[in-house]
Amino acid sequence: MNIHEYQGKELLREYSVPTPKGIACFSVDEAVAAAENLGGDMWVVKAQIHAGGRGKGGGVKVAKSIDEVRSLSEEILGMTLITHQTGPEGKEVKRLLIEEGADIKDELYIGLVIDRAKQRVVMMASSEGGMDIEEVAANTPEKIHKVTVDPTQGLSLDDAKTLATNIGIPEGSVNQGAELLVNLYNVFWEKDASLAEINPLIVTGDDRVVALDAKFNFDSNALFRHPDIMEYRDLDEEDPAEIEASEHGLSYISLDGTIGCLVNGAGLAMATMDIIKLYGGEPANFLDVGGGATEEQVTAAFKIMLRNPNIKAILVNIFGGIMRCDVIAEGLVAAAKEINLSVPLIVRLEGTNVEKGKRILAESGLEIESAGTMAEAAEEVVNAAKGGE
Ligand code: ADP
Ligand code: MG
Repeated sequence: MNIHEYQGKELLREYSVPTPKGIACFSVDEAVAAAENLGGDMWVVKAQIHAGGRGKGGGVKVAKSIDEVRSLSEEILGMTLITHQTGPEGKEVKRLLIEEGADIKDELYIGLVIDRAKQRVVMMASSEGGMDIEEVAANTPEKIHKVTVDPTQGLSLDDAKTLATNIGIPEGSVNQGAELLVNLYNVFWEKDASLAEINPLIVTGDDRVVALDAKFNFDSNALFRHPDIMEYRDLDEEDPAEIEASEHGLSYISLDGTIGCLVNGAGLAMATMDIIKLYGGEPANFLDVGGGATEEQVTAAFKIMLRNPNIKAILVNIFGGIMRCDVIAEGLVAAAKEINLSVPLIVRLEGTNVEKGKRILAESGLEIESAGTMAEAAEEVVNAAKGGE
């Protein structure tokens, strides 16, 4: 789960990581009041969406007067912000962060990720902050410094000092910078984050090290033990189809192809998407209905898939293990009748009671294509999606 920058900064302050003062706002009047409240003579108006690259897209702007705070807030609030992370359709800005302007001497980069191979958290740091870190990694990998953290020890102050020195934090500020890095690691670890990025981490004119941006991603499987993080959830930033699916206990992810997939088991769902691509098609979604899908869940799954205007055909791929094929077939037939299925449906069943299941489909009077193997199913559904040529 992602959170907004202003929420990330709240969390950082809880862990004594310095950030500029700022106030989150939902209207232009609130933004003006926030700037007056903060005082000073320079403010930054920052769009709050769950995507990076806001600066380049026109979602982060400096104001030198209260009037300018007003006009920039009017401009940014409600705009459709397009960045390299939003996709071409962009994201509507519904919240702003009004922040005091920082005196930036140097922009650095800090990232925390989980290295799955090492099964450890890795802190990455670079002197090249404020820009695309992917480019730095590709062109000048020697400018990225890494520390792999031992989970029983946490990030040591010594390792943090070495990192701080390596990325060019001035000598007199190394201790403060290193402490910041340790605190940052502690938030990441204690809150079960899966990714954290401070880009840029800055050195100010008076040599203080401050987090100027904050991106956090949390492991959804651990959210049950972090009610404070759950509070940060912003449903406006999530895909409505995915929210609805999760309410039905379905694991659903929207994709941009034309072939809907309804599968039991995450592994089989991945394999189904792979074979669709192998036959030249593009999946419209990932969907795992789980081991014991009910008729209600199958119906909900069909409804969610069919709301996608790009959908051209649906492939149901079920392996009946604990779940019997005849039960699944009954569910499919009932669901297809209830929703008045409007696109070709190809079903591949295998496993317990498969013959009985196939008979139920054949005798349903519905136009359901039954496929034998996965390859046949994929070929049929790709053809159907292309208009049956
Ligand atoms: P994004 O990464 O989405 O573009 P950032 O928060 O990193 O957004 O902001 C982009 C740039 O705007 C920063 O690299 C920094 O140069 C400038 N900036 C952001 N916040 C402030 C601030 N409070 N004071 C001064 N400059 C800022
Ligand atoms: Mg940034």
